Amino acid sequence: MTADLYRAGYSSGYAAGRRAANRTHLPVRWRDGYEMRCSTCLEWWPLDEENWVPRLGMARCRACWRAYKAAKQRGYTAEDAAKAARNEAQRARYHANRRRYNEAARAWRAKNREKVAAYNAKYRAEHREETLARSRAYYAEARPVILAKKRAAHRGEAAA
Ligand SMILES: [Zn+2]
Repeated sequence: MTADLYRAGYSSGYAAGRRAANRTHLPVRWRDGYEMRCSTCLEWWPLDEENWVPRLGMARCRACWRAYKAAKQRGYTAEDAAKAARNEAQRARYHANRRRYNEAARAWRAKNREKVAAYNAKYRAEHREETLARSRAYYAEARPVILAKKRAAHRGEAAA
């Protein structure tokens, strides 16, 4: 379904950013001043000391450096710390865009009800065996409780 979402024209900003970041040109642009794209969070930040730490290089913005260093301090390797910084930025982006993405997804589902139904039917067919096994296991485990509840309800009905 995610693939369908993309085909319908919704594109992950992050994926688009990764593609852009893989381009060879310098990630600099002009928007009422120079902005530079952080290679970790892929956001554009004004080129000032509020957003960048020149001493540490211009590969990461200040927030991503902070996340990187926090992860390093927790004993992460450089690679895992970079990943943690990226995840942190991704989380922030998700929360900032959650409402918009959810609305877009809801609109897409409302417009493509038959696709959603087909997807759900396919999923149910493909997972039928494990679903049945899970419900059988649950019933086997909870049988005494379920029966006790049914008996209690029946007694209550009989008394009323
Ligand atoms: Zn960043």
